Amino acid sequence: MKRTQIKQIFQKLFGVKIRIVRRKRRKGLKSEYIKYKAQALEIAQRKIAQFNLVYNFKYNKITIRNQSTKWGSCSKSGNINFNYKIALLPENLADYIIVHELCHLGEFNHSKDFWDLVEKIIPDYKLRKSHLKKISSNGINIT
Ligand SMILES: [Zn+2]
Repeated sequence: MKRTQIKQIFQKLFGVKIRIVRRKRRKGLKSEYIKYKAQALEIAQRKIAQFNLVYNFKYNKITIRNQSTKWGSCSKSGNINFNYKIALLPENLADYIIVHELCHLGEFNHSKDFWDLVEKIIPDYKLRKSHLKKISSNGINIT
């Protein structure tokens, strides 16, 4: 049913005028996800292998998701997830997200020890963090 039809029905039945607002798309487009998933996985795997030469953490599976609110996440069992949109970011911001999640394998919190780990590879992480926040539309966060 079209929006105009819905409006007319409401007006007829209830005598009220309504305004229909399209909900903001939070998830990425499925076609876009399919297009960039492999590229994002390649970036994540390559970068984690590279950065982990410094940390030597144990990790399990790296997964790319079409997440609506997260750039990345990490589980206590060592699985790391990334939003496919890391493939669309400037490299320095994707690096920050990857190092951030990788460091949760060492510190499962956002303590000073955690940020010290991040700083080893990303000395300007504060700058990248705020840049990422600025360009994160739809409220995508990092956890
Ligand atoms: Zn975090």
